[in-house]
Amino acid sequence: MKEFDSSVTFIDRNEVVLDQTCFFASSGGQPSDTGSIGGVRVLDVKRAANKDIVHVLETEKDVKVGQLLSGKIDWDRRYKIMRLHSACHVMSGVLQKSFNVRKHTGIQIHEDKARMDFDIEKLDQAIAQAIENEANRVVESHHDITARVLTWEEVNRNPDLKTVSEDRYEKFDVPRLIDIVGFDRQLDGGTHVLNTKEIGKIKIVGRENKGKNNKRITLVVDNQ
Ligand SMILES: [Zn+2]
Repeated sequence: MKEFDSSVTFIDRNEVVLDQTCFFASSGGQPSDTGSIGGVRVLDVKRAANKDIVHVLETEKDVKVGQLLSGKIDWDRRYKIMRLHSACHVMSGVLQKSFNVRKHTGIQIHEDKARMDFDIEKLDQAIAQAIENEANRVVESHHDITARVLTWEEVNRNPDLKTVSEDRYEKFDVPRLIDIVGFDRQLDGGTHVLNTKEIGKIKIVGRENKGKNNKRITLVVDNQ
């Protein structure tokens, strides 16, 4: 959903909480959505300690609690971020299955590129190329991508679903599984495309040595 109507439940200067929202609040390396609410630009979206989704507007808006506003997210930007996020999961599956990488130490998605940090001893040009080739082979296999909520009991029975450091999962209200069907399953709170074919071609455009075993890659997806 790209557009919605919702009523104000809280407002403090330029910060607004709505009774429902399509805006994604930054988490797990995925940035917040941008867009507009009641015609005013939304610059940031954050999750308050009480779990409210707080929309930070460019300017203060004269509205009252209970008032109905229409919201709209920047869909082109969000869709690109979804493609990049799904691309990261494909990469993560490839790294685990074919390159013996167990844990990821960081992920940061932007609207035009994504950055992944992971544990691997050697990452030269040939290995980076092999990772990229294998990721594109997976993309071209047209795997469906599904999302569903699990119980903590199911999670505890499948510890492999946790692919990043343990403390990240403590913030989850409910464990949500992103399943690249037949390829990769991991807990994740982000937004994804519905099939790997939507990702397009993945290209590794940068690689950095961050330490003995800690390597970083930067990836992009082509424009479709
Ligand atoms: Zn993710």
